[in-house]
Parts: sequence; C-alpha cells; structure tokens
Amino acid sequence: MSVNIAIDGPAGAGKSTVAKNTARALGCIYVDTGAMYRAMALYLLRQGIDPSDTPGIEEACESVDITIDHEEGVQKVLLNGEDVSSLIRTEEVGKMASVSSANGRVREKLTALQKKLAREKDVVMDGRDIGTVVLPDAQVKLYLTADAHVRAERRFKELVERGETPDIGELERDIIERDHRDMTREISPLKRADDAILIDSSALSIDETTERITEIIREKTGLWK
Ligand code: C5P
Repeated sequence: MSVNIAIDGPAGAGKSTVAKNTARALGCIYVDTGAMYRAMALYLLRQGIDPSDTPGIEEACESVDITIDHEEGVQKVLLNGEDVSSLIRTEEVGKMASVSSANGRVREKLTALQKKLAREKDVVMDGRDIGTVVLPDAQVKLYLTADAHVRAERRFKELVERGETPDIGELERDIIERDHRDMTREISPLKRADDAILIDSSALSIDETTERITEIIREKTGLWK
C-alpha cells in the first residue's frame, strides 16, 4: 500500500512549504491540489468563462486536460500540455480558483486525478478536502491553520519580495472571503476531518511547524527513524 499523508487547511497557513519539506524527507511525491484548481481557473479565465456560468464551466471540464508531472521532486502543472506552474500564482487566478472550485464537475474531475496519483505513488498531498474526501484512509491527516492576520502578513512579505506593492488590509479581507467561500460551499467544504490533528502555526516558524509535523508522522507511521 502506498504512503498517503493528507494536509488540509486554509490559504497561507504554510501547508505547501511544510508538505514540500515533509515529502522530500520521506521520499514521497508532493502533490499540490490547489495548483490543479488554479490551472482549471486559468483555463476558464483564458476562455472568458464567467464563474457563474455553470454550463460553460461544465463544458470546459470536458475539453480541458490537466495533469501534473514531477521534475527532480518539483511539481509542474500542465494545462493542455503547457507548463503553467508560474502563470497560476497570481491573485486573479487564486480568486477565480476559489470560485470555480465550488463547481461539482470541476471537483469530480480533479478529485479523480488526485485519487489515482495517491494509489500509484507515495504522496504528501495538500488541499482543502484531502483528509475528508480525496484520501479518507490516509495514514496521517493534518489540519494546519493560522490566524487570518498572520496569514495576510505572510502573503504580504511574499509579494513584497517579488517586487509588488500589496495592501495588507485588502490581502486580509481577501483571505477571510476565500476562507468563507471554501468553508461554506456545498460540495467538499474545507473542514477538519474528525481524525485530523490540528496544528495552529500562528506563532510558529516554518521550521518549527515542519518539526512538529515530522514528529507526528514519525509517531504515527514509524517512517522517520
Ligand atoms: O491552495 P491554493 O490557494 O492554491 O488553492 C486555490 C483554491 O483552490 C482555493 O481557494 C480553494 O478554493 C481551491 N481548492 C479546493 N480544494 C483543494 C485545493 C484547492 O477547493 N483540494
């Protein structure tokens, strides 16, 4: 049986960095499911499909091909064969993904791909519904969260490092709005699985968070000696 580790939580809690570090240490593949929803969103934006156009989104699902590939452990997202890994990291794509990911057909398509990957390979997978829907039998389930203000500050630093001039208040409002959409949508809302271990990273550095998670995985699986 393959190793399946599920990490869920809201945006900016540190999931991707921690999942990447953990996957590397365990020799697993890191699967960023948010990137798949973002690739789908980029496709919809390029096609000029409105997020409220449900039939248009469902039709798009039939014609779009989203796959992931790994190069030296780093995930690449391919949209109809094009590597869009860096194009999907904008606020515009993130916002669209948060809206279009509520569509049942979009979720069905991407969930099937995620389940297939986890059957075939040892994975550390992060997202919103991994422990609840995608990998309900994962050996370890973690729910990583942090205060919205702290998450906005982290995002602010990232954008400033990239040379952008973000507004911290707007970032925090966006985060709160996105959390609300993810947590209240009808299909596969973001919530902690009953058997997921809760970690609040508000007062922790990335290294401290990774350390805490490493400890939990070691205890639960015996994988890290
Ligand atoms: O994690 P990231 O911010 O890249 O995800 C983008 C959006 O994709 C999220 O706001 C969420 O709405 C959606 N998503 C999801 N289910 C997942 C992963 C991401 O609905 N498993």
